[in-house]
Amino acid sequence: MTATERNYPPPMVPLSPVFSRHSTQFSRGPAAPHCILNCKYKRFLTSGRSAIALALEHAGVGAQDEVLLPAYHCESMVTPAKWLGATPVFYRVRGDTRIDEDDLLAKINPRTRAVIVTHYFGFLQQLDHISARCRELGIPLIEDCAHAFFGALDDGRSVGSWGDYSIASSMKFFPVLDGGVLASNHIEIRNITLEPSPKSFEIKAFVNSIENSVIHGRLGLAGKMVALLVRIKELAWRSLKHLLGRDQASIGSPISSHGGQQLEEAWIRKRASLASKMVIQHSNMQRIVELRQANYRRLHETLGVLPGCRPVHAGLPRYFVPLVFPLYVEEPEELFHKLKLQGVPIWRFGEFLDPAVTSDICSSSVELSRHVLQFPCHQGLKGSEIDWLIERVTAELTRFNRGGADR
Ligand SMILES: *Cc1c(COP(=O)(O)O)cnc(C)c1O
Repeated sequence: MTATERNYPPPMVPLSPVFSRHSTQFSRGPAAPHCILNCKYKRFLTSGRSAIALALEHAGVGAQDEVLLPAYHCESMVTPAKWLGATPVFYRVRGDTRIDEDDLLAKINPRTRAVIVTHYFGFLQQLDHISARCRELGIPLIEDCAHAFFGALDDGRSVGSWGDYSIASSMKFFPVLDGGVLASNHIEIRNITLEPSPKSFEIKAFVNSIENSVIHGRLGLAGKMVALLVRIKELAWRSLKHLLGRDQASIGSPISSHGGQQLEEAWIRKRASLASKMVIQHSNMQRIVELRQANYRRLHETLGVLPGCRPVHAGLPRYFVPLVFPLYVEEPEELFHKLKLQGVPIWRFGEFLDPAVTSDICSSSVELSRHVLQFPCHQGLKGSEIDWLIERVTAELTRFNRGGADR
């Protein structure tokens, strides 16, 4: 995080899913047909990066080994390989976010011990050829579904079907403080030893889910009562910190729950909080899928036609379930800054690429990391919030591009 970034106000509209009456139900909703949780084996962890770390470790990756990673990435995808002492090697990604298969295959050598592939923003990659080659060579393939908890190709094959291991980040799709999934259809991962999370964290995870929805005004009268409890909790928490001293209190929760990118050793083997598992289990998944798709289509129709930008994808295939709406912007810096100042929630995936990735290694990844802004389309957004977001982006892009024409 840069100094200027820290000066932006908090988003006016939630960036990540929050509880809402229309998307979260306290009864088991119908299971989504295409979901990483349909894999045969699953382990619930506190983050996606822990899942990557444990997948690499289980696959036997160690010092002297190379792990192939996409040049378009975030730091939390790279640190697990470094944690094991392995060397990350970056393969190219095309301007439309498709993996450069030829470059990936050309970079495989006798030291390659694992390959990581990512379904960016919920748009599934074509992985048949890569997974077949990896199988022939005995190299484990890790399917990074952090952006694709749900989804399938037109022929019905779902997320999690190509990798030997698949990983997901629950926080990106559900209103939870923590959560990562390590899954596999054919590798026995039940033998991975996990540790319980600290009790204080279990409580924090529970309170946080409610707190989050209170801040964004989601729970009506019940919410006002909860808000009072949250205030009491804060007072209690402050005195607890005082009693325990700083070190103990900072054990609180992993940095992955607060937008940080680091991999913390202490959290790699911890189980997901009970609150996280419960929320996922009791969510109406079919509803989440439909709301995300509808919100995405709305943003595509309204923002995608504005001057000075274009949607990264021409449309949303039938079974894809988007993480966000990615928009390619010709002059991104000023727009990004202006929108962030107004509290418009934006992500910029890969904003800080590994220093090894220069334009020589992959010019399109460097370009994607600067020019593609992502807007939320999650199930917790209210219609009025999407209206506001569209109105803000439209005003800025129109003004900026009119200004450009006058110059
Ligand atoms: C967020 C993310 C991860 C890591 O997930 P966390 O739950 O934040 O640890 C891995 N891969 C991709 C593509 C991501 O965006």
